[in-house]
Amino acid sequence: MMKIGFIGTGVMGNAICLNLLKAGYELLVYNRTKSKTDNLVAKGATWCDNPQTVTEGADVIFTMVGFPRDVEQVYFAKNGIMAASVKGKILVDMTTSKPKLAQKIYQAGTEAGAQVLDAPVSGGDLGAKNGTLTVMVGGDKAAFTTLEPVFKAISSMAQYFGPAGAGQNTKMANQIMIAGTMTGMTEMLVYAQKAGLDLPAVVKTVGGGSAANWSLSNYGPRVLKGDYTPGFFSKHFLKDLRIALETAKEMDIELPATQKAKDLYEILVDEKDLGDLGTQGLIKLWWK
Ligand code: NAP
Repeated sequence: MMKIGFIGTGVMGNAICLNLLKAGYELLVYNRTKSKTDNLVAKGATWCDNPQTVTEGADVIFTMVGFPRDVEQVYFAKNGIMAASVKGKILVDMTTSKPKLAQKIYQAGTEAGAQVLDAPVSGGDLGAKNGTLTVMVGGDKAAFTTLEPVFKAISSMAQYFGPAGAGQNTKMANQIMIAGTMTGMTEMLVYAQKAGLDLPAVVKTVGGGSAANWSLSNYGPRVLKGDYTPGFFSKHFLKDLRIALETAKEMDIELPATQKAKDLYEILVDEKDLGDLGTQGLIKLWWK
């Protein structure tokens, strides 16, 4: 069975690693904050001191870090993935990152004899825990086929979309949709509360009709409980909206509703310094 290296064991990476261990894969792990790998090491994973060591010991190397700059660092910095010999290995970035960075990694990896995939995911913290993520893949088709059993262990659907960057572009399409469902849910709750309605009943009823959506059914109940923990960090969603808008600009299209969602999350994250709240924290722009 192939040996898997995993770099970045935060909310998503840690839960994905648990499912890989459950499926019987040998696992090498690295994370900036070492303690976030303790539970994995206790279950049989091997700690490595840096991304280079992970890469040297594994056949397939996954990364699931925060921002594009973190991806750049784990790949290209001293003791990074590309400092190892990657010939014959498969490199998979699951971070939600820039399509252009996926292409840069593809080029560097291919030149060094590796196969490379961009494979961001959707389905949230619960999807990661339950192994029911959806995976959106770009890059080497043959590597995608090789990894199908691995994707099966962590997701309910993995789909190949085309050359390097196609996975990230699909994830951006996903986030453009989520921009609408998160702002829609938030404004719906602000309105319903001001109108004096029974909020749990509104969430249940609206969620059963044609306004049903994932943001409402997963985050609506969390908002009503006053639970703003991530889930999905607002600072990461703002990062995604910025990437989507930047990429849209390069393609010469305007997305005014996504732009408005970005402006709102920018107030939450940059002005109010609440980027560590889950994305459902957007309602704090209205509710004190
Ligand atoms: P997270 O909890 O912040 O996890 C990221 C992990 O990467 C952290 O443990 C962090 O280390 C580590 N890391 C960052 N830079 C590193 C570096 N240079 N070297 C080693 N480790 C590094 O965030 P998350 O919620 O798991 O999200 C991860 C990615 O998935 C993000 O791009 C996010 O947009 C995307 N995503 C998230 C969700 C979701 O619902 N949460 C869903 C889909 C996609 P520290 O522990 O030191 O901070």
